[in-house]
Amino acid sequence: MAKPTVGEVIRDAAQRLSASSDTARLDAEVLMAHALGTDRSTLLLRHMRDPAPEIFADLVERRAASEPVAYITGHQEFFGLPFIVGPDVLIPRGDSETLVEAAIAARPDARRVLDCGTGSGALLLAVLAKLPEARGLGIDRSPGALAVAAANARALGLDDRAEMLAADWHAPGWSEALAGSFDLVLANPPYVEDGAVLDTSVRAFEPAGALFSGPEGLDDYRVLVPQLPGLLAPGGVALVEIGHEQAEAVMAIGMDCGLASQLHRDLAGRARVVAFSVGNVSSG
Ligand code: GLN
Repeated sequence: MAKPTVGEVIRDAAQRLSASSDTARLDAEVLMAHALGTDRSTLLLRHMRDPAPEIFADLVERRAASEPVAYITGHQEFFGLPFIVGPDVLIPRGDSETLVEAAIAARPDARRVLDCGTGSGALLLAVLAKLPEARGLGIDRSPGALAVAAANARALGLDDRAEMLAADWHAPGWSEALAGSFDLVLANPPYVEDGAVLDTSVRAFEPAGALFSGPEGLDDYRVLVPQLPGLLAPGGVALVEIGHEQAEAVMAIGMDCGLASQLHRDLAGRARVVAFSVGNVSSG
């Protein structure tokens, strides 16, 4: 019997995955491109009649068990750049591109950038890729994440301008040596409420330490935001990603520590990023 073709097994896989994924056909194509060591457009143009590779079935099984496509392929594009990802890091979301754009617009002249909870390094490295004069520091408490971030810095040719360091903003004094240094501070901290209902692909596969932050999802903001004035250089701006219902609460935390805030929305129009700057305090 003739071996099934790439096109045939993609069709079957899309059918099988449609029970568990909203993007079943796309998932099947991306997994097949990965199995063939090619990209999706080359797959669609040139390989649909080739015999299907055996390994594809295993990839489809993993996806059917809700594993995110990005962990199966080990890659996710973010801000037009290819990132290595794995289970130690949150998969960069399109929503977070709002933060990168806001950061670049706020301080196109930035020289020093800090990324708190850098994970894959996506926010920091995307900003550095756009701002060739800038240097950056990514901190994370997860050694596994730091290894991924460092690998991404190397792969993107940014390792001469990006340093990755083990640090935890919950540890007193962690930033003493960094005080007043940064024109931009970026952060996508954990902000999901502990009991939140999440898709299995998120809850069962993405790192809990990058997602959950107490009963209201605000615990990390309560610790990190008060540290921002001390980290920023004069004129510096801190950009913090938020859950779309957290704007008021996070801006109030900032106000309590003398920070002025500006809200940025994502492409779906949801509140997504708060930009903090040290407010002009007029005396007298
Ligand atoms: N945007 C992520 C999600 O809801 C959460 C990211 C985070 O907690 N920093 O899946």
